[in-house]
Amino acid sequence: MLLPEPEENILDRRDEIVGALKSLLPKGCVIDDRTTMKAFDSDGLSAYRNLPLVVVLPETTQQVADVMKWCRDNGVKIVPRGAGTSLSGGALPLSDGVLLGLGKFNQITEIDFENRTVTAQPGVTNLAITTAVQDDGFYYAPDPSSQIACSIGGNIAENSGGVHCLKYGLTTNNVLGIEMVTMDGEIVRIGGKHLDAPGFDILGIMTGSEGLLGVVTEVTVRILRKPATQRAMLVGFDTVQEAGQAVSIVIAAGIIPAGMEMMDNPAINAAEDFVNAGYPREAAALLIVELDGPEVEVDYLLDRVATLMKPLPQHLINPCFFKISTSQIVDISTFQLFNLFNFVSISTFQLFL
Ligand SMILES: Cc1cc2nc3c(=O)[nH]c(=O)nc-3n(C[C@H](O)[C@H](O)[C@H](O)COP(=O)(O)OP(=O)(O)OC[C@H]3O[C@@H](n4cnc5c(N)ncnc54)[C@H](O)[C@@H]3O)c2cc1C
Repeated sequence: MLLPEPEENILDRRDEIVGALKSLLPKGCVIDDRTTMKAFDSDGLSAYRNLPLVVVLPETTQQVADVMKWCRDNGVKIVPRGAGTSLSGGALPLSDGVLLGLGKFNQITEIDFENRTVTAQPGVTNLAITTAVQDDGFYYAPDPSSQIACSIGGNIAENSGGVHCLKYGLTTNNVLGIEMVTMDGEIVRIGGKHLDAPGFDILGIMTGSEGLLGVVTEVTVRILRKPATQRAMLVGFDTVQEAGQAVSIVIAAGIIPAGMEMMDNPAINAAEDFVNAGYPREAAALLIVELDGPEVEVDYLLDRVATLMKPLPQHLINPCFFKISTSQIVDISTFQLFNLFNFVSISTFQLFL
């Protein structure tokens, strides 16, 4: 991939641009020395590196608006950046562009249990939202594997999701409202604390727009009650096709597991080599089926899933009744599933409806 050729006239105006941005922002919010800017020269797609023209780290929505307006009026490009975990180069800086980091927007501003919402600044990590409400029995459902680091603003821009999106949806199904700054520096609010605001679905357009339509400066998401019970089973298959067929059979039976993930044989063996988790190295594929809900329902569904899979010639069917929280497995059973989940989250297919 070739990065676009920088505009010479912008590079020539660097001192003027840096000076103008410094006049708009408090001391310490503009980084223009090459050594410090190195920290921002890439994102999760680390094969590509590029120093930005200058980095700005605003502290308020008004400051974001001032920067956006000035850049718009003066023909300077902006790349917004959350935590920089994007694997698609979305936060990769441009040599002739301003990198606008949201790292200082790191506060949860409201927890509203009555409306079951959390409002946060965009730099708050995905996991921090669950952490803030979990003692009260709630959690935030979309769980990208990078949730310990990625920001909720980045999640909006990438419409991120994880294992549990099979049942609970992606970011777009869990975001209720945002505050954002448009390209010309206008501050607007979309949605609120309720689902399905009337009018055009601007929130839907913003979610997944990769920072191209504006900068998100506040996010309101819905939180859910933690399920009473969460259990998973691990099933081994002789062929990847059978494992895929098993997924279809479960879904066709009307069962929507909280999550389903598959490991193929190279992934199983790589996991074994790396963490010695105790998986059957000979299985062509492993399927993890996680069910959640009231205990009686989960017991019933585990039995049903096992029954549905029996006609398939799997060589291992082992319901491992391990308990998990929304983000961490707290009790490990036969296959040391903590390691398995950690590994599969970056190495296997995530199965979405
Ligand atoms: C180990 C690892 C595992 C991952 N697992 C998953 C996964 O399971 N599921 C998944 O969906 N993704 C996953 N990702 C990708 C990444 O973590 C997500 O896309 C995440 O949402 C990016 O958030 P961020 O804060 O790091 O955003 P950044 O990387 O900083 O930015 C991503 C994009 O969002 C834009 N952006 C950031 N903040 C804002 C804002 N406030 N306003 C407007 N635009 C903004 C940027 O311009 C860029 O285009 C993974 C990444 C890694 C490194």
